[in-house]
Amino acid sequence: MRSDTARRRPTKKRRKKKSGFGCFIFVVVLIVILAAGGFAAYKYLTANNYDNESGFERFADRYFSANVESDDIGDVQTEYNYGEYASSAIQYPEIGLENVDARISQLIQDEQQSFRSKYGNSGDGKVAQLICCDTYKGDQGTGSVVVKTAVQEADDKGDLQQVSNTVKTFTFNTENGAEVFSLMAFEPGYRDQLADFFKSKGFEKAAAADVDYDRFALNGKDAIFYFDAGQVEDMDSLTEIKVKNGDVENVFRDEIDSRGLDPSKPMVAITFDDGPKKGTTNRILDALEKNGAVATFFELGENVENCSDSEEYLKRMEKLNCEIGSHSYNHPNLFQISDAAIKEQNDKTDEAIESRLGKKPTVYRPPYGNGNEKTTEIFGKPGILWSVDTLDWKSRNAASVVEQIKGSGNLDGKVILMHSIYDSSAEATEQILPWLQSQGYQTVTVSELLMYKYNEDPSATKFYGYNYFYLD
Ligand code: ZN
Repeated sequence: MRSDTARRRPTKKRRKKKSGFGCFIFVVVLIVILAAGGFAAYKYLTANNYDNESGFERFADRYFSANVESDDIGDVQTEYNYGEYASSAIQYPEIGLENVDARISQLIQDEQQSFRSKYGNSGDGKVAQLICCDTYKGDQGTGSVVVKTAVQEADDKGDLQQVSNTVKTFTFNTENGAEVFSLMAFEPGYRDQLADFFKSKGFEKAAAADVDYDRFALNGKDAIFYFDAGQVEDMDSLTEIKVKNGDVENVFRDEIDSRGLDPSKPMVAITFDDGPKKGTTNRILDALEKNGAVATFFELGENVENCSDSEEYLKRMEKLNCEIGSHSYNHPNLFQISDAAIKEQNDKTDEAIESRLGKKPTVYRPPYGNGNEKTTEIFGKPGILWSVDTLDWKSRNAASVVEQIKGSGNLDGKVILMHSIYDSSAEATEQILPWLQSQGYQTVTVSELLMYKYNEDPSATKFYGYNYFYLD
């Protein structure tokens, strides 16, 4: 069965070009030629064919006007490159954001490159590459560009027939041009939810585990997903499936990350264990706020209960976009206690945090780093170790902590371990944040790091050990 949520990319003319003027000129030219009795000329104009440079431009224009859907989020540019054998034409938007325009240009260049290397400049007959872009505005400050590439080859009669049709997509924050990846646009676990939805619509193939849902555009409140030929039932060409915001539960985020993170640039996650502690925790939060930075706090349930300011601290962390994790209730070695005791460590800490913050911690870190798949299963949340140890608990010296971090090489993708119970660590935080910024690092929470640097679902109950947080 086929649902109205999916449609085949038309290869024939679907709708008239929006530009009234161009259309008007075209019609006038057509009428004049017809009036002159030029039946041959008429055929020449409408056949899917061309013989020379101007013919190719008309041919490409007809294709673009039939195939481009646009929310008008940029000036449209058109370029033609005619050749006796291989010709290409591109139509693309100029968004006016440097990084976005560079990305669109790169996507187009990649397509042109692969076309040239496949077809060269000479051969029998004719071959044309046509690249155009759909543009969409999302409701939450996003823009999407869908780069569509078609290749057409001349058949025996000289008419061009489509031989391939592919799509690449790019969604970005319209304020700063930072890319919006699928995990920023959709809730963790979105893939399973979408697979169920596609299955319910009869698209078993699109629900298969090896089909990725990375190509999408956000259109108003809805999303459009793109699939290659053969990835959706009955569809022998490129297919798009529209998913309305109300169609699937727990897929669309209420708010798309507005922190403007750019996953293509360096990211580091600073983490603080063993708090909260009156005064010191607040000093760290002041430094984070002052520098527009974030961190992850792995708190002890016992300290949350005993610190009279913990509710204020937890709420402030949340307000500053920090992440709150569990570090157990009272810091036992999890390898030396029973499963039931481990569970109690988790439950009591969850309760202490939830009763003050209104939500449970999202991640956990086992005391002394002594955790594994089993303790993670019992905690029921991702287990996070670290890749840069500042030894702040040992040195109790801000300068030494700062040197440890500066001397750790490339910090992109790394998790830094500190403790929020020492004044020296708070002082080190005040010093290191401006330095990280000057080096081009974005500070992120551990869940953000998992999503943006490692393409991991941050809600998955998985253990990320000592060897994990290294990109190289
Ligand atoms: Zn600890």
